[in-house]
Amino acid sequence: MSNERIYLSSPHMSDEGYEQQYVQEAFDTNWIAPLGSNVNGFEQELADKVGIKSAAALSSGTAAIHLALRAAEVGQNDIVFCPTLTFSATANPIIYQGATPVFIDSDYKTWNMCPEALEEAFKKYPEVKAVIVVHLYGLSADLDRIVELCNQYNVTLIEDAAESLGTYYKGKQTGTFGDYGIFSFNGNKIITTSGGGMLVSNNEEMVEKARFWATQSRDQARHYQHSELGFNYRMSNVVAGIGRGQLKVLNERVQKKKEIYETYKQELSELDGIGFMPKNDFDDPNYWLSCITLNGSVKPTDIMDALDAENIESRPIWKPMHIQPYFKQYDFVGEGVAEKLFETGVCLPSDTKMTDKQVSRIINNIKSMWWLNVK
Ligand SMILES: *Cc1c(COP(=O)(O)O)cnc(C)c1O
Repeated sequence: MSNERIYLSSPHMSDEGYEQQYVQEAFDTNWIAPLGSNVNGFEQELADKVGIKSAAALSSGTAAIHLALRAAEVGQNDIVFCPTLTFSATANPIIYQGATPVFIDSDYKTWNMCPEALEEAFKKYPEVKAVIVVHLYGLSADLDRIVELCNQYNVTLIEDAAESLGTYYKGKQTGTFGDYGIFSFNGNKIITTSGGGMLVSNNEEMVEKARFWATQSRDQARHYQHSELGFNYRMSNVVAGIGRGQLKVLNERVQKKKEIYETYKQELSELDGIGFMPKNDFDDPNYWLSCITLNGSVKPTDIMDALDAENIESRPIWKPMHIQPYFKQYDFVGEGVAEKLFETGVCLPSDTKMTDKQVSRIINNIKSMWWLNVK
């Protein structure tokens, strides 16, 4: 059908059925839960893939951020720097810990945390306890400068790499530069387990500690004994089986996402007033979502409405945290770059299951609508 729904980014299981083989193994051994060989295997395989010592499989990326903040000893009234341009899941765990977020602006060069704004924030809040950096849409942040600033101020760095599994900064995986990194396997991410997350670090002791917290902080005793607050955050052995299978096709997915991006760029760049997300020399992105910006008379809603009418999903760039009703009481350091990106940006369908024909359908639709809307 020509009018079949086209998605932004939806789950894409391997053609080979790898995921089912691992899940079947869990059934065959009746090892559905709690932990088991798929959980251990997924942790090891993901750690090897990204090049880090240790990984803990958790129920979500949000849970991983929460435990990273606990590992960083972020508590009541501590300050945490967080990019304003992100999904709320980056900021929420700061509140879970009773801490205070300070939102940092983006820069146009990366769309991610602006090092100048970060430096300004360090001067304003030298007592800051941790910094969370995000690699939005699979674009890496300016890591050298951010890592350097965190070292200079001796502050823990947490990398929210939920959207950037498969993105390399100067040849090294994003998520492995900070003291802690997190990945997400939520349904629309580049690979998915239906839902899940991973905390990674070269600090094996703290990853082990995170596993302990994630299983209700049960002390080593025959009776149920707890000396610390616990959480139910562990990934199940079935879910981990899906993850092991998906990890095998990660490179293929990145390749396809890149092709989608390059096709859009080739076909749409000529249009008046259209810009593309940045591609820096230091960055080898996973192209999770292909995003454009508009300058001129065409508005994101024009494009989104036109695509919507053709049963094609698209969405705006994340709405900045410092203008969200829930978070607007917190301080913001910057100059309105994130807001500008929000006001002018659109995420185009980047689903790896799309056929060439479907990509053409999107492109033709944008092209035809374009001329109608340019005033
Ligand atoms: C998806 C996402 C998360 C949260 O991951 P979940 O697994 O859905 O909890 C965190 N940060 C960013 C930037 C995300 O896109």
